[in-house]
Amino acid sequence: MPERGGTTSFGTFEDAPITLRRTGRKKSISLAVRDGCVAILAPQRVPDAEIQELIARRAAWLRRKLAKHAEVKRLTKRAFIDGETFMFLGERYPLQVRHGPKARAELEAGVFVVHVRRSHSTERRARSIRAAFLRWYKAEAATMIEDRVRQYAARMMLSPGQLSFRDYKSMWGKCTSDGDLSFNWKLVMAPLDIVDYVVVHELAHLRFLNHSAKFWSVVETAMPDYRSRRKWLKDHGGTLAI
Ligand SMILES: [Zn+2]
Repeated sequence: MPERGGTTSFGTFEDAPITLRRTGRKKSISLAVRDGCVAILAPQRVPDAEIQELIARRAAWLRRKLAKHAEVKRLTKRAFIDGETFMFLGERYPLQVRHGPKARAELEAGVFVVHVRRSHSTERRARSIRAAFLRWYKAEAATMIEDRVRQYAARMMLSPGQLSFRDYKSMWGKCTSDGDLSFNWKLVMAPLDIVDYVVVHELAHLRFLNHSAKFWSVVETAMPDYRSRRKWLKDHGGTLAI
């Protein structure tokens, strides 16, 4: 059913804009922080005062979520210039921009060397450096994750179907009911321990396609310290971005 009414502005929470959307499909008010904004979804008939009250009650939580968003934004804001660092397998490597006919990135002796055309404007140059990085990361992800999947699949005596690498916004991996696995290529920015956790997690879904106790025990058998790795991903996953 189509939604009636659009999103309206509902003032600000400290410096963050608040948007409000009313819907007939909800019974209670929900709050979320998205892209530095507070997004509220409320039932049609709830009075504004009740929404204000909820915002006041959840102020500490909202402040925490907004601060986290600002931190991630600060860590991932890029100019794509010499000396800026980029992550690969949990390490940061500096960028060195060189001139060349075709945009391409390489990791040479601890330095990310990216060739771009001299003629580009600053903005176009940044865009083509980013594109070169994306191609490099995606290629590395395919090689490396495929290798880790092969190793852990053998150890766990499982056989996955097709592997693919995607540009997920808020997911690290996925397992379909056909046994095909896909992974977020940005994982190659994380330490190998973390890549392995996601690999084991998705492989374990070949046994149980849910997050039941049985599923977690498959994960734990293959990786006894999975909890600390899962926590790392929860705490730092947002910084694996370009
Ligand atoms: Zn899962």
